Amino acid sequence: MAGGFLAAFSPLLDLFYPPGCAGCGRKLESAGIVLCERCLAGIVKFPAQGCPRCGSSVEEDGLVCRLCGGLAGELDKLRSAAWFLGPVPTLIHRFKYQGLHSLAQFFAELTYGLEPCRELIEEAEVVVPVPLHPWRKFRRGYNQSEILGRALVALTGKEIDPAALVRARATKSQTRLTPEQRRMNVAGAFRSGKAGSTEGRTVLLVDDVMTTGATLGACAHALKQAGAKRVLGLTFARA
Ligand SMILES: [Zn+2]
Ligand SMILES: [Zn+2]
Repeated sequence: MAGGFLAAFSPLLDLFYPPGCAGCGRKLESAGIVLCERCLAGIVKFPAQGCPRCGSSVEEDGLVCRLCGGLAGELDKLRSAAWFLGPVPTLIHRFKYQGLHSLAQFFAELTYGLEPCRELIEEAEVVVPVPLHPWRKFRRGYNQSEILGRALVALTGKEIDPAALVRARATKSQTRLTPEQRRMNVAGAFRSGKAGSTEGRTVLLVDDVMTTGATLGACAHALKQAGAKRVLGLTFARA
């Protein structure tokens, strides 16, 4: 409950204790920013030119993309804004577990400012955040993917439907699992909530971080089964 409790009071806390840089904690030069210049410069943007499907860099000599081979066929396209490097792991941790929701707008603006991500967002008809299991959402007090999704639609005017996907069962933390174990862990973990907003449409699936793509793949599978025309995956960070 601690996360939810703190999250509920964070706007109040910000008022009394102006927050430092979300990356390194140093005092910030001006109001209205979340990162110091050094942390901002430390963000490694995702390559603009890469595999047409997943966006990751491909070997010079061939067109073989190692990531795509393991991706669920239901995922039509993937883009991310930054690598999970430099200050990004700290930012994600603070956003996800410490309720630093002011980062959502920063993530959304940075993502929308990058051409490959912007093109992907423009293709979409409806934004669907990767859902948390209801129990985990209750304990955390929020779903960080939904907060990121809402920040994106505030910027782009797109439609959002957080009820389009449901996490049907809780899954183990993925951090210590191999790619194959991750796929097994999330297989069948998602089902469509109400298909109305996604049926026959291009869906933008939003999450904070992508590692192997197992979670996005399982979500894409559920969305396609419920009749989605195309499923595009967008994450702020890629590990
Ligand atoms: Zn900093
Ligand atoms: Zn690829």
